[in-house]
Amino acid sequence: MAFRLSLSKEMNYELNKCFRCSFCRSQCPIYHAKMNETWNARGRMMAVQLLKEGKITLDDRVLDRIYTCALCKSCEKICPGLVKVTDIVKEVRTQLADAKKGPLPEHLEMLENINTTGNALAMKAISPELQKAIDKMPQKADTIVFMGCVAQYVYPTHLITLFKILEQMNTRFSVLREEICCGSYLAELGLAKEAEEVLARTAQRLKEHGVKRIITLCPMCYNTFKHDLPELGTASKIEVQHSTQVLEDALEKGVLKTIRPLKMKFAYKDPCHLGRYAELYDPPRNILKRIGGIELVELERTREFSRCCGGTIRVPYSELRNSLCRNFFDDVVKSRVEGVVTACPTCFHNLYSTAPYTNNSVNVKGNCQVR
Ligand code: SF4
Ligand code: SF4
Repeated sequence: MAFRLSLSKEMNYELNKCFRCSFCRSQCPIYHAKMNETWNARGRMMAVQLLKEGKITLDDRVLDRIYTCALCKSCEKICPGLVKVTDIVKEVRTQLADAKKGPLPEHLEMLENINTTGNALAMKAISPELQKAIDKMPQKADTIVFMGCVAQYVYPTHLITLFKILEQMNTRFSVLREEICCGSYLAELGLAKEAEEVLARTAQRLKEHGVKRIITLCPMCYNTFKHDLPELGTASKIEVQHSTQVLEDALEKGVLKTIRPLKMKFAYKDPCHLGRYAELYDPPRNILKRIGGIELVELERTREFSRCCGGTIRVPYSELRNSLCRNFFDDVVKSRVEGVVTACPTCFHNLYSTAPYTNNSVNVKGNCQVR
């Protein structure tokens, strides 16, 4: 495949900062799954350099190295050169998309799904229980819960629980009926124009509804609304909160009280997009600490060094995602906890669906599920 990469000045500068020390090897989850340097951040940076110089051709092996980067930022937290690995990978993906050399067919299917059904999963209807909960809400409110594709179609009980908690707090809120995906997956795949178009559709609806505050369950939606929405210039005054921030604040102010104790030893799994991306490490922990009986244990790799579950690469690399989850559960087993809590519907999905295959009986709990 004839393709010559031409990075921007800024990304060339970033790439030149990589001095091949391979410190990133200790953190890159894909390297840990493959145990081969070409899958490490350093290997990816070398592949980008070689693509730029025209010394390698863009074959399937190279494409795999580009699209298996989970954009987890684990490498960036240890990199002595402060190389913006994820920005470089995203720029390469954008150029591949512009040259019609990427993304992969499975990724394009997700784009097609969003264009036809409004969500990446191609789901056509929400559950009757969720629909019933939505029907009780006002058509418009200053505060909306942005439901997100995974929670809305796969784990509606997480949303219904959040709705109940907000009701207990006497919060007047609503949702956007027939919500459209926030577009964060598309942006990560280098489909920048498509991602912007999708987000612009939601921005228009937020404006029509006069929304002043958005609460999200999904950390990817959180980052999209917090950082990308203002860039569209249409909704810069909207306050964006992750649900864990809302709950932490309500518990601290006494607006919400935990009632039932839960005698369990838990570990909290930091989602990449809530931890390394948004630096929200404490709100979920502070919520858990307020629940009587819970013993909160930190895993060997925690906070900015927490393991990635592979959520962003599960399509089409589901086997690789499974390896990442297995490595995570190895840490969990070592820490001798009874359960794991996370604050991201995608992390929850990955851990919940792979836990039965890890030869242990770890209980996985999602956002708003520990009450
Ligand atoms: S840690 Fe940073 S500088 Fe070192 S090889 Fe990895 S990306 Fe390059
Ligand atoms: S962002 Fe994550 S998956 Fe990508 S190179 Fe860095 S550590 Fe590896």
